[in-house]
Amino acid sequence: MIRAYFNLPNWFSPKFGKYSWILQGVIMQNSKIVSKQKHIVLTSHPGGLASKPLSVHWGESEPSKRGPIIGTLTNPAHRNVIGTHSGSYSVYRALAVASGALQASHRADLTNTSPVVAIGPHPSWADANKIVALDPFGAMVGEAYADLYKQGYDIRPTIAITQAHINMPELQDAIAKGRLLVDGRIVKSGGSLVVTKIAIDPVWYLPGLAKRLKVGESDLRRALFQQTGGMYPELVTRPDLQVFLPPIGGITVYLLGDVAAITEPNRKLAVRVHDECNGSDVFGSDICTCRPYLVHGLEVCVQTAQEGGAGILVYFRKEGRALGEVTKFLVYNARKRQEGGDRADAYFSRTECVAGVQDMRFQELMPDVLHWLGITQIDRFVSMSDMKYNAIVNSGIKVINRIAIPEELIPADAQVEIAAKQAAGYYTEGSAPDAVTLTQIKGRNLVS
Ligand SMILES: [Zn+2]
Repeated sequence: MIRAYFNLPNWFSPKFGKYSWILQGVIMQNSKIVSKQKHIVLTSHPGGLASKPLSVHWGESEPSKRGPIIGTLTNPAHRNVIGTHSGSYSVYRALAVASGALQASHRADLTNTSPVVAIGPHPSWADANKIVALDPFGAMVGEAYADLYKQGYDIRPTIAITQAHINMPELQDAIAKGRLLVDGRIVKSGGSLVVTKIAIDPVWYLPGLAKRLKVGESDLRRALFQQTGGMYPELVTRPDLQVFLPPIGGITVYLLGDVAAITEPNRKLAVRVHDECNGSDVFGSDICTCRPYLVHGLEVCVQTAQEGGAGILVYFRKEGRALGEVTKFLVYNARKRQEGGDRADAYFSRTECVAGVQDMRFQELMPDVLHWLGITQIDRFVSMSDMKYNAIVNSGIKVINRIAIPEELIPADAQVEIAAKQAAGYYTEGSAPDAVTLTQIKGRNLVS
């Protein structure tokens, strides 16, 4: 009967013995789950639900006028966005619900979860063009929408702010060499740093995002719909829903020093904007400069905070220039196996061969988090990337000094990457290598 109901092909017949029984077991479990839910409510057309959800007026300065972002699935009639909370982890939530480990109706108890320090509000929060990729009120929903929460609306924070100690072994080396001082306040003995940690989930205001990318909103919606395999039909059927919670990784901000120093013009601010590179950041892979630059950025942040200013390290989950780690490792192989070995002059073209583009990070959206923090001027920008620099400056933030990675921190095998970047116009305090030099800078062989 089960086989007939699910219209299984013949190769699932009992003659396949135990595999068939395993499969039937899975199906029986699934049919139990399906039977729990009586029907599926389609939200792919406006007016499909009895009541109208609360509207969102992006760019309003008052959270009550702007309206809450409701992306939970506990009450479909309340939803006023496309997609759902927790970025890419929403898919794991689906597995937890499917397996029976999580009640789909669970509503978060937010007792004692409020931010440890207040950020904002800042004038940029009320500018619909300055912030389009996160919800400026995301950390304060507990207080801003307390009444609605009591009425039964399941409003979840998209930003969480906590405090922590972090420690990387390189920092102890910096202390030993006298570059960093233990002050007991920002740097503890043993090299631990006292940081404010902020996690941010992406919240996209689609009209603003389209404007930022200089494309039509309907073209953007269509591409998002098609390139996710049709995962969110509302992108194309619900123009009335203007906010999308995309299933992608978020941002972590590590803040050193006094929060108030971020916006005070006479106190210095250091910023490093770092895009995830798991192989180097966590495991110390030597093919690139990511971890050395990450640590160097932290060091400059600490020094600036100790001078009475603040330091901000923003960590984006955009692995491998947002191409992902599979593509990245394919590129590593292609680079090392090409004729003449891994060469600086062929660095970018290998990525383009595999991925179709050199970079997919869209730094145009990156400055939003800086505007959310209230930044209008960066005294020390610890990055060589022109794309990041241009995006920040074009968004209206002044950058006083750019700081490149010190030579001695570049691993030998990463000379290919750094030389290629310098030749492509990345910021350097020295001179960029010419075409001849570029052909001579080689990396290690693939297997050695
Ligand atoms: Zn890297």
